[in-house]
Amino acid sequence: MSIGQSTGRFNESLLKLRARSYDNCQSCGQKLPREVACYAGYDAEGGPLYVGDCCKHLMVELVSHIYWWWENDRRCEPETSLWRYMDFAKFVALLESRSLYFSRADNLGDLFEGAAGFADRRAEWDAFYLEYFRESVRTAPGRTEPLATEYVEREAARLLKEISLVGERERRTTFVSCWHANGVESEALWRLYCPPPVIGVAVQTTAALLTDALGDPKIKIGRVQYVDFRKAFAGFHDRIFWKRKSLSHEMEVRAAIAHHDGKEAVGVLRVVDIEKMVTSVVASPFAPSWFIPLVKSTMERFGVSLPVIHSELLAEPFF
Ligand SMILES: [Zn+2]
Repeated sequence: MSIGQSTGRFNESLLKLRARSYDNCQSCGQKLPREVACYAGYDAEGGPLYVGDCCKHLMVELVSHIYWWWENDRRCEPETSLWRYMDFAKFVALLESRSLYFSRADNLGDLFEGAAGFADRRAEWDAFYLEYFRESVRTAPGRTEPLATEYVEREAARLLKEISLVGERERRTTFVSCWHANGVESEALWRLYCPPPVIGVAVQTTAALLTDALGDPKIKIGRVQYVDFRKAFAGFHDRIFWKRKSLSHEMEVRAAIAHHDGKEAVGVLRVVDIEKMVTSVVASPFAPSWFIPLVKSTMERFGVSLPVIHSELLAEPFF
């Protein structure tokens, strides 16, 4: 069966399937070669498909070509253990609002949020993408006559300008909730987020629970890729999942709301079922002994019931 124009009709299950994998055909498991487009769409029963040429014959509706090598590998296994370290005031705000706070990307405190790379390498980046766009303009389907060089140059320059503007705009229309992916507690993160005498907690969840709690397939959840901007650039897709290598200790998984028309807002709240999302609340190892009863009674006051546990860092050694 031949498939026509792409319809762009992503339903929830197709978005989920697409988010799960980039470089493997989801029908036969074959590795999808780099720089060969694959396909997202539906089979004859309306089931979602994410396939390469190997299984394209199963597809009756093409939704979109996927150029997965444009995307960084932000896959995050559902069982990934996630932590959010916060001071006590933020914890109370979480209980009170029963919502997760998403901060506007340009407000997260990292100048490089959403950046393409170092400013002093901009000329290199521009040259690379100019060439890339020239090639795309020249080889666009449906052309029989070769295009005038002047036209190609003008179009390539326009596209380059456009992606720069989009990059800048995205910092102000993308909102992020940051998590730390780690199988164990991190002493470093306690010191970073709750440096004594600040006291706080870490709430624990998993990627699957966070995804379910947010319940919106348009919210992208994925691992941050740490890039050495001396050697590489961020692409122009999903830049919000790229950061400088010097921040790799954060081991971040983030949930990102893109294209949010927040305008003046510096943050947005998304309601979550805290009791379903959070598996436990860990009290700071640096907190005094009266802190755990306070965490418990505060949760009670807000009608939230969750296990509160002592920090692993307080465990006693034996020799
Ligand atoms: Zn296949």
